[in-house]
Amino acid sequence: MKVTESDYRAQAYHALARAETQMGLGDADLRYAVLELRVAIEALVMGRAATFQDEMGEQFLSKWNPRDLLHHLRTIDPKVDRPMSLSVDMGKDGVEDFRKVGDSRPITLEELDRLHHSLGSFLHAATLSQVGKGEWFNAAKARKRCEAAVALVRLALDSTLSAMKFKFFASAFDCERCKSDNHILNLRPGEKRAVTCHKCGAPYAVVGTEDGMRVGAHRLPITCAMTGCGEQQQFFADEIRASSKWTGDGLKALEWTCQHGHFNLITMRNILVDGPQTATAA
Ligand SMILES: [Zn+2]
Ligand SMILES: [Zn+2]
Repeated sequence: MKVTESDYRAQAYHALARAETQMGLGDADLRYAVLELRVAIEALVMGRAATFQDEMGEQFLSKWNPRDLLHHLRTIDPKVDRPMSLSVDMGKDGVEDFRKVGDSRPITLEELDRLHHSLGSFLHAATLSQVGKGEWFNAAKARKRCEAAVALVRLALDSTLSAMKFKFFASAFDCERCKSDNHILNLRPGEKRAVTCHKCGAPYAVVGTEDGMRVGAHRLPITCAMTGCGEQQQFFADEIRASSKWTGDGLKALEWTCQHGHFNLITMRNILVDGPQTATAA
């Protein structure tokens, strides 16, 4: 069964109703309202993801973190969480007559960052410092955040249009590193977008062209530093950044043994300050 955005909107609607019931019961039950509102916000984001599941990449189907999801959806289409108004031209004989069909008002990444996280702080036991100030649970603050979340969730649920997805331009490319396919929507000619492979995180820059897009992997050429060797290899920028080795002077480094067996230590400073040609051979 393929779940739809409407299924998730129904979940959000019920969670909102439960939250409002809890809020009406007084301060003692506010924590349960917080929980329901977080579920409602997550369901709305998950609903957007449901609309983009063909483009999303398989392992994102099991992601629960709404921020990771929405961030990824934005690389597929930056307008995924933008408010939208749809009108249709019903005019005749060259006379324009635009009629409004409806509005869509999804939760944006910025709103998610602000509210989902700040609600979460009420789901934990008070810290020692909070209790030191006599604050086991700040009900007034919790209620204020709940009210802000209710307003946001209601705004999204009141949209007359949902499950909006436009495919003016659709392109895909295979990751050079892990071979999985990555989908990009609505990249206009000349538009540049930074994307990472949905599976392995390899960084790319894609640029829209008249007949599709140009894909450039963000790779750095490294030349073996052993005198007379000259072997070169292209490293993805994130391989160097994510390397867990540390050199004596506190810099992260990538170890690379070239095909001729020369050991190279490539540090961030080599690449960022001296350029890529200065790996240290040992
Ligand atoms: Zn990949
Ligand atoms: Zn070499």
